[in-house]
Amino acid sequence: MLTTESVRVSKVRYKTISTGQFYCPQCKTQRAYELRKARNYFALYFIPIIPLGDAGEFVTCLTCGTNFQTEVLSIPIPTNAPLDRFVREAQADLDSGTPIEMARQKLINTGLSRDLVEQVIGQAAGPDRKHCPADALTYRSTVRRCAQCGAPLM
Ligand SMILES: [Zn+2]
Ligand SMILES: [Zn+2]
Repeated sequence: MLTTESVRVSKVRYKTISTGQFYCPQCKTQRAYELRKARNYFALYFIPIIPLGDAGEFVTCLTCGTNFQTEVLSIPIPTNAPLDRFVREAQADLDSGTPIEMARQKLINTGLSRDLVEQVIGQAAGPDRKHCPADALTYRSTVRRCAQCGAPLM
C-alpha cells in the first residue's frame, strides 16, 4: 500500500519571469539575465502536480550562470554618462564664448585622458568652428566675438 510519504517528492521548478540587461557583479560588466522564480512542487510519480508557493525570485546571469538576489537589478549599468556630462558642460562653456583651447585645458586639468578630452571637445564644439584672426583662438560657431581681444570671429 502506498503511503503519502512514499509518493511525494519535493522538487524545485523554475519559471522565467522576465529577461533583460543588468550589471553582473561577477562578470563586472553588462550582461543578459533571466529573472526566475523558483517553485516547490510535490511530485506524484515525478509528475509535478501541486505548486507549493514561491520559493523566491532570483536573477541568473546568462553568461557566468551566477544567481543573485533580485536587488542586483537596482545596480545601475555603467554607461558613458559621465562623459555626456563633460560634453554638456564643455558645450555650455563654449556657447558662453570660451575659446576651445581653454575648454580643452580645463578638461585636461580634470584628469581626463587626452583621447577622452578630444572626444569631448569634438562633440561639444561640433565640426563648424570660428577663429579669431588676431590671436588664432578657435571658438564654437555660435560665438561672434573673441573673448580675448574682442575681434569679430571669422
Ligand atoms: Zn555574470
Ligand atoms: Zn582674439
